[in-house]
This record gives sequence, C-alpha cells and structure tokens, in this order.
Amino acid sequence: MNLSPEVIIVGGGFSGLAAAKKLHEHQIPFLLLEARGRLGGRTFTKKFEDFYLDFGGQWIGPTQDRMYALCHEYGVRYYGTYNQGKNILDLRKKIKTYRGVIPKISLLALLNLDWIIRKLERLARSIDIQNPWNHPKAKLWDKITLEQFLRENTRFEDTYAIIRVGCDTIFASDPDQLSLLHALFYIRSGTSLDCLINVENGAQQDRIVGGMQHLAEKIAADFTDSIRFNSPVKSVQKQENGYELSGEGFSFSCQQVIIAIPPPLLNEIEFSPALPSSKKAMLENYPMGSVAKCFMIYDKPFWRDMGFSGQSVSDQNTPFQAMYDCSPADASKGIMMGFSVGSRMNALFKNSKDDRQNIMKETLSRYFGSKAENFQTYEDFTMSDEIWSRGCYAALMPAGAWTTFRDEYRTSVDQIHFAGTEAATRWHGYIEGAVLAGESAASKVLSSISSKS
Ligand code: FAD
Repeated sequence: MNLSPEVIIVGGGFSGLAAAKKLHEHQIPFLLLEARGRLGGRTFTKKFEDFYLDFGGQWIGPTQDRMYALCHEYGVRYYGTYNQGKNILDLRKKIKTYRGVIPKISLLALLNLDWIIRKLERLARSIDIQNPWNHPKAKLWDKITLEQFLRENTRFEDTYAIIRVGCDTIFASDPDQLSLLHALFYIRSGTSLDCLINVENGAQQDRIVGGMQHLAEKIAADFTDSIRFNSPVKSVQKQENGYELSGEGFSFSCQQVIIAIPPPLLNEIEFSPALPSSKKAMLENYPMGSVAKCFMIYDKPFWRDMGFSGQSVSDQNTPFQAMYDCSPADASKGIMMGFSVGSRMNALFKNSKDDRQNIMKETLSRYFGSKAENFQTYEDFTMSDEIWSRGCYAALMPAGAWTTFRDEYRTSVDQIHFAGTEAATRWHGYIEGAVLAGESAASKVLSSISSKS
C-alpha cells in the first residue's frame, strides 16, 4: 500500500474503480479508501450456496460502450435477459397478457400512451446533456415535477398507470420527487426513453455471468494493494501542500482527491475549508431514489415452459411495479425479481420479511398459478437501508435544482474532483455513467499533473 500517494480516491464503487484503473495505467500513485469491507458500492452480488443475486445494479445495454469494453478487457462474459413469450399486465386486479412492447389496453388509452412517450422523447431530444439549464424552456420544465407532467398529459387511468410504472422503475422514485427537466435530462443521458425501458436494444438487455460485482473485483485485481477497506473518510483538510484525509484510526496525505460516493454522504464529511456554499446548498436537497429488489427463487424458471417471459407491469394493486426473469445464464435456478419503488416500497417494507415473502408468492400465484407456490427461498434487499448508499439508483434533482445549481455537483473544488454516477452527463444514474465520471475525474488529475511538470 502506498502511504504517500499522489491521489486519494474516496469510494470503491464502479466510479472510484474506473478512476483508479486510469491512474494505475498512468502509473500515478494512489490510495483508494472504501468505507465498506467490499467493492462495488451500489452493485452488490450476494452469493448463496448454489446461486447468486444481484442486489444492486445488474444490467448493461447498447450504447453503454465502456461497460461492454470492460467486460471484453477482463474476459467477463455476459448473457441476454430472457425475453421471449407473454408479458403480464396487471391493472385493477385484472391480468392480461401481451407480447412485445405494446400492452393490451383500449385503443384510445394506447394512443394516449404512445403520444406521451413520443412527447417525452421529443422534449428529451432537445436537451443538451452538458448543460440542460440552458434550454429555452429549462425554467418552465424545472418548475414542475414529472408527476405534474404525467397528470397533465394522460387522459386515461390505464395510460397513467403504465407510464407511471415506466417512470417509477426508470428513476427509482415516485415522479413527484423529481423535476421534469431532470427526467428529460436523464432520458437524453441514457439515449432515449425506449432505450431506458426496453430489454432488447435497451438498458435491461444483458447481465454479467456471475453477477455485476464480479466485474468490479476483476477491475480492482490489478491494484488491490492500493485499496484500504473499512476506511470511511470523515474529514478532508487542505494543508499547506495538498490534503489530509482522515477517518477512525487513519490519516493520509495526498496532492489531489477524487470523491466518488453517493451525494448525501458528502454531507457527512467535514471539509476544511468548507465546501463552497452553493455546493453545500445543493447537497442539502439532493435525495436518493428508493427501490427494493424482491426475489423468489425456484428450482427452474417454470414460467418459461408456460410461455411467459417473466416480465410484468402492475399498478398499485401489488407492491411491485415490474418483474423480470433474473435466472442465471444456464437457467440452473428460476429467479423472479420484483422491483418495488418509492412509496410502494415504503409500504411493503412496513411488513415483516415473512409477510413480504407471502405477498410476492401470492402475486406470482395470480400470474402463474399453483406452481408459483413451490418456491425454494425468498430474499429482498434495499440500498435505502445501507449507511454507505442511502438509496438508489442515484440522487435525483428535485424541482428547481437544475436551474439553480447547474453543474455545481460535478465542479471541482481546488484539487478535489467529484466523480460518481451523479457527476456523469452520459448514462447518468447508471454504472456506465459511474465509469465515465470516474475516468473523467482521473483525466482532470492527469491534466493537473501534466500542467505542473
Ligand atoms: P457507488 O456504487 O455508490 O460507490 C460509492 C462507494 O463509496 C461505495 O462503495 C461506498 O461504500 C463508498 N463510500 C461512501 N461513503 C464513503 C466514505 N465517506 N469514505 C469511503 N468510502 C465511502 N445501474 C445500471 O447501470 N444498471 C442496472 O441494472 C442498475 N440497477 C440498479 C438497481 C439497484 C437496486 C441499485 C441500487 C442501483 C442500480 N443501478 C443500475 C445504478 C448503479 O448501480 C449505480 O449508478 C452505480 O453503481 C453507482 O456507482 P458509483 O461508483 O457512482 O457509486
């Protein structure tokens, strides 16, 4: 371990690791301080005796070029999400099935759905992801929440229910928690709404064999000596020459700092001198989304033999906005995963784990009949309960934040650079964004070093 590094990286999620990889390749001495006893942050692959579950981020998809490049570089295999057969639409306690991406609702409701999706796509295409606040309508779109927009543009209950599920699962939040401008930025940042929603040709297309954390560990294998675990940074102090970063029982000095942690956790680090007041003001109201993943594990994906894809969309009558077949590549287990987002998650987690298990079993029995009762085990997890995450998928800009704070979050303070997926303009909120932001912070370090030499 290098005890007098040039750079200290705070956080060993994909962003911190991408920064570390780049510095390692340029032979810049660094130390990565990670609060937890593991790498991966908001990606977390929990291993069980004969299967694994991705409790955090798991999918990659087209246009996430860095993620595919990393898989190839480290020889990590990926496989397609199961996407054949009938999908389930569960509205007002009535179950319908449909194939492809067009749900079975009345023609008028469907036309309204298509119209609102196209409208969101059109508005998002007009956003410059580098500076969304510069759009001529930025103030207007930042003043209202995504929820207001959805209400104003849906004429039918079914249209609202379906677009709402799409938005809940894309943002991991109730839509009244974020501004319309943030939604449009996020959609553009992730290419398009179609891309964010879809499995095929979309953000849910592929999964990593062995789980996403496996890729994080592969990246880190070249520089494990430069990582210190169980080391939450509590203070960052500017010294005459560089910075001192301290936590319980440690203190290290460096010339430059890269911070790659979830934004709410920045509030808990004491900076001296204090961070600029505009950055602090922004951090005071920059909350994380909230989602739980609930898993029912079977000896095989029995729904496939019944002609189902395993994908479902549901209104408030279940706690799960959407479900996916998350079985391993070899289908050696059948794993059904339900996303429970925002207020639905909060309500679900008021129940005991046994009750949550029963709720998921009953939901799946409604979809697939008695076979769904023969599960092996149930697991669930939410990053909202994790002190080193505080929620997920990412922090969200509430109404007014983009036009007030602009690029405040990602702006460096002296030689302190801010990474993490929230600093990304492309694939903001996703693992790809985390990697891009980490690499960008490392580039800032490199150019600062080269400008001095
Ligand atoms: P993090 O992964 O949060 O890493 C930050 C690290 O900093 C953590 O390891 C933390 O322990 C550490 N840390 C925090 N505070 C301190 C401190 N004071 N000192 C030292 N270390 C500290 N994205 C996708 O692309 N595809 C998906 O399918 C997907 N699904 C998701 C599902 C869920 C349930 C969740 C939780 C997220 C999902 N995401 C998905 C989002 C994706 O996981 C995140 O965008 C990405 O992992 C964020 O990486 P990061 O490095 O920016 O931050």
